[in-house]
Amino acid sequence: MMNISDQSQVEIFKNYINNTQKIVIVPHNNPDGDALGASLGLYNTLVELGKKVSVISPNEFPDFLNWMHGVNDVLIFDKQQKVATEIIEDSELVIFLDFNALSRIKVMQPLFEKDETPRIMIDHHPFPEAQTAEVQISVPEASSTCELLFHVLSLSGLKSSITTKAAECIYAGIMTDTGSLNYNSSRPQTYHIVAELLEMGIDKENIHQMLFHNNSFDRMRLLGHALGVKMQRLPEQKAAYIDLSKEELQQFNFKPGDTEGFVNQALWIEGVQVSAMFTEKNNMVKISFRSRNGFPANAFSEKYFGGGGHFNAAGGESKLSLEETLKRFKLVLKEFCDENGF
Ligand code: 5GP
Ligand code: MN
Repeated sequence: MMNISDQSQVEIFKNYINNTQKIVIVPHNNPDGDALGASLGLYNTLVELGKKVSVISPNEFPDFLNWMHGVNDVLIFDKQQKVATEIIEDSELVIFLDFNALSRIKVMQPLFEKDETPRIMIDHHPFPEAQTAEVQISVPEASSTCELLFHVLSLSGLKSSITTKAAECIYAGIMTDTGSLNYNSSRPQTYHIVAELLEMGIDKENIHQMLFHNNSFDRMRLLGHALGVKMQRLPEQKAAYIDLSKEELQQFNFKPGDTEGFVNQALWIEGVQVSAMFTEKNNMVKISFRSRNGFPANAFSEKYFGGGGHFNAAGGESKLSLEETLKRFKLVLKEFCDENGF
């Protein structure tokens, strides 16, 4: 069973849901399938319960998630700041999903540093920061926030309000965070929950189609370029990495989400224990790390790139140029491997 260290927090969640009407749900910046899936899974469930609910995302989500039920009701904070702020100020409860630190909501961070609305966090990232929310339901061994959310709703006696639409969003989050039950998915409970979601009538074939088999021609060509032209190896550190400049992204008509999963593929090389991907943005380089065989991607990212995440999947940022970032990466990776015996 999933270990929720303090069961009383589920009791508090249940009481808050029963006793509030106006609820705001917030996923992390650059929401992925798990963050948006959990947000809309909970949104549809709470709407079913007759609540007045708003999902407010810090910024836009990628197109491959725009089939999710309720996406048209999601407010984008960096575009609709005024109305979103009013809704937050008027709410009775805020639920944070799939993140463990206020810094992960970027443009919304200043607002929540002041806001005093009660907050509940439901998340599966290790080492939550204390000031994120008063009530923290944090279970790092959960495959995904979606899996954890399903468990929390079940324990709260709300399972019967999970509609098929909500179940489809929750299923999508479990699939995107586990690479379709490829990694982070060795606990039987994940499969029990997947079975329950199937019993709720979800259209599994269609969800996989929408999530994974709906790529633009440009995105497939960008993947070809990334793997065929850009991927490099660092044999001594058992590493592989890909970097994509702004110009390259432009050349392939980059849209948010287009590079999702590329970093996993660099880890599929025989003998590679750590992979990295560097994507040049307007004023920084976004970095993703994936690892296996005991290499702590989160500790590495935290130490050198101000980031964090899971043991085998982490991210960070660099303010240096792309070229300088790559130089530094090679240097610090060597240092980290030498120091820690990798
Ligand atoms: P991705 O590489 O898919 O963007 O992120 C992988 C994991 O690392 C996710 O669980 C995500 O929450 C975490 N992560 C990504 N970027 C950052 C970051 O800049 N800071 C922190 N603390 N975590 C990140
Ligand atoms: Mn997640």
